[in-house]
Amino acid sequence: MIYLDCQATTPLAPEAREAMLAWLGGPDSEGFGNPHSAHRVGRKAAAAVEVARDQVAALFPPGGRVIFTGSATEALNLALLGSGACRPAVSAIEHAAVLDPVEWGFDGAVLPVNADGLIDAEIALPDGTDLVAVMQVNNEIGTVQPVERLAERARQAGALFLCDAVQGAGKLAPPAGADMIAVSAHKLYGPKGIGALWVRDGVSLTPIIRGGGQEQGLRSGTLSPALCAGFGVAAQQAVARMESDRAHVDKLWDKAVELFSGWTVNGCIDNRWRGNLSLRREGLDVARLISDVRDVAFSAGSACASGSGRPSHVLRAIGLSDRQVKSSIRLGFGRYTTLDEVEEASRLILAAAAAQD
Ligand code: PLP
Repeated sequence: MIYLDCQATTPLAPEAREAMLAWLGGPDSEGFGNPHSAHRVGRKAAAAVEVARDQVAALFPPGGRVIFTGSATEALNLALLGSGACRPAVSAIEHAAVLDPVEWGFDGAVLPVNADGLIDAEIALPDGTDLVAVMQVNNEIGTVQPVERLAERARQAGALFLCDAVQGAGKLAPPAGADMIAVSAHKLYGPKGIGALWVRDGVSLTPIIRGGGQEQGLRSGTLSPALCAGFGVAAQQAVARMESDRAHVDKLWDKAVELFSGWTVNGCIDNRWRGNLSLRREGLDVARLISDVRDVAFSAGSACASGSGRPSHVLRAIGLSDRQVKSSIRLGFGRYTTLDEVEEASRLILAAAAAQD
């Protein structure tokens, strides 16, 4: 199986896996401790969590704190619901983890994007906006938003700026000027089941999960030292390998774009994370393509949207017709994808697409 779905999730980095093993903790090791216990076994686990917290902090700007959560979805919910904001303005191409809570609980505004999948950094913010949420890198089309300028504009308007950096963390420099940033370990070669919210010093939050008061009172629940350790090492690796990872996906992108030359790329080509190649071909039946090409794991639109059966709100927001949305696929490359895999997967996909003519 050739895996080309790195926006849905990434394989666990061997270094992260190794770091986790010590904290899975059988009865003959001390690695099973509850990091919130006061005895030695607990203190050892707590120390591992704090090492991981420092490693994860390298994904963010200086001047804030890291709160571990169970996912980026939870981090985004904590930011939106815990910040006390009443009138959020969010981009039309945010992930459901932002759009759904906003739709559910707020009188929110939706900021449009252009046909390139980019939000205008000078867009007018509705009066009374008290929180602006714009993602760094879109998960479906890979476009990179002008988040630094938007953060500055939000600050000038007296609003908080929340950035969903799930697809950008460890790949691009962190979004400077943001007040809150959400990330997920499993998108950067860490384990599933852990995310984090970074909160700028001075920004206060109210918890949405209450209980034992863990995570600075903001997220009750026992932390998993194994997940924290894996996340920490994955973050450390991502920061250390940022340049080489980027050069690698650029090379894969160039080859794939050459091979898919008759297809149309969805979203801006320049302001983009090139590990995400969203493409369409007029008249293509993507459901059939995916079932015909069984040896390649790739996606129609975002994995989340296709899982829910909802049509892609992102492809619609950039102005694609229903037919164009349905003829779009997403190929996601990452650190462990090889050039041979891209060539072989492209050959299989192109042959299956040609067979539909
Ligand atoms: N935001 C973006 C841009 C994503 O791509 C995803 C996952 O697909 C999420 C948020 C949610 O992340 P998690 O799986 O950690 O809840």
